[in-house]
Amino acid sequence: MPVGEEFWNPYRLIPMPKGQPPRKEPQYHHRPRGSSGTLWCRLEAKTALLVSKQEGTVNTFWKSKRTNKPTIPGTSLMGMLRSVVEIVGHGCAITSRSDACQSIGGLCVACRMFGWVGQGQRDALYRGHVNIGDGEMDSTPTPEARWQKADVYLSRPRPTHASFYPGPKSAYRKLYHHQPHCKQDPAPPLRGVRANTSLKPAPAGTIFTFQVRFRDLPDKLLGLLLYALVLEEECQATLTGWDEEIGQKRKFEIRGPLCHKLGQGKPLGLGSCKVEIEKARFSAGLSRYAPEGLAKARKILEGDELDNWIRGKTEPYRGLETKTMQAFRKMTIFDADDPRKFRYPSLNWFSANPNRKLKPL
Ligand SMILES: [Zn+2]
Repeated sequence: MPVGEEFWNPYRLIPMPKGQPPRKEPQYHHRPRGSSGTLWCRLEAKTALLVSKQEGTVNTFWKSKRTNKPTIPGTSLMGMLRSVVEIVGHGCAITSRSDACQSIGGLCVACRMFGWVGQGQRDALYRGHVNIGDGEMDSTPTPEARWQKADVYLSRPRPTHASFYPGPKSAYRKLYHHQPHCKQDPAPPLRGVRANTSLKPAPAGTIFTFQVRFRDLPDKLLGLLLYALVLEEECQATLTGWDEEIGQKRKFEIRGPLCHKLGQGKPLGLGSCKVEIEKARFSAGLSRYAPEGLAKARKILEGDELDNWIRGKTEPYRGLETKTMQAFRKMTIFDADDPRKFRYPSLNWFSANPNRKLKPL
């Protein structure tokens, strides 16, 4: 929320570590170190969720041409995972001209993992180690024909309130608060504000499944990839802020799993989701090429064995207590009983408070 104000702004800024992201020359695929395999993943919408294609003035769920089912494109899933890798592993902000990796000789962890394309440079392409398939809908609590359309006000990209954004893009990342009460309908427009678009999201409880393939992925990056998928099971944090019910400031204890935000309407409460890995198949390092052959080197993990493997690989990240990670957890804890109400300041507020900053996390 802005300093001294009574509402919670829908987003906050995560401080990034100072300085340039650590960079190094990527490992080329013809040197097979690291492991290769497939992860079968399940994504559950914890609030309403919409990854849209526009149909007239209504934003409806994107559909796979092959199956005609609501589908989350792999590129959207990759964007979601890449943003976690950038924060947790200190990668570059790929959308920032000044911060993004400039040369194939020195790539940050996120560009090494997901690939990199040089702007206007010959032969400047690194394919990365990770490929993410489309997430096709598996089940939904409400038949798709009955998904509700809601008229909303969604702000368009516009010159931002400069004092909300301290310093260059590389110094922070913007994350949206979860709004767990938003199971079906996005927040309606404020009084006096006209809706400018319509959204038709999938309701909370809708399940999508997708596959993540990785190739020659160094062990450390595999741990980071697994963390970016499953995050953490149980965290807690204390935030101070305004309670609309009692009309005063108080401490909020929130507790729950860390969840992602994906798709449209994030400031209106949409997009919270939880990813689980249901099965993993992988072959580790050089053993793939060992004389005993593929069958022996390849492993399939499920159930407890899979959970233990994930816990072991993600341990270094779950234990990280940097400022960035503390702020990241505060913003990504999904507490089903979270009572906070979020809204953007009105345009009048922005005009009246040109220099007001966002409260630090
Ligand atoms: Zn990079």
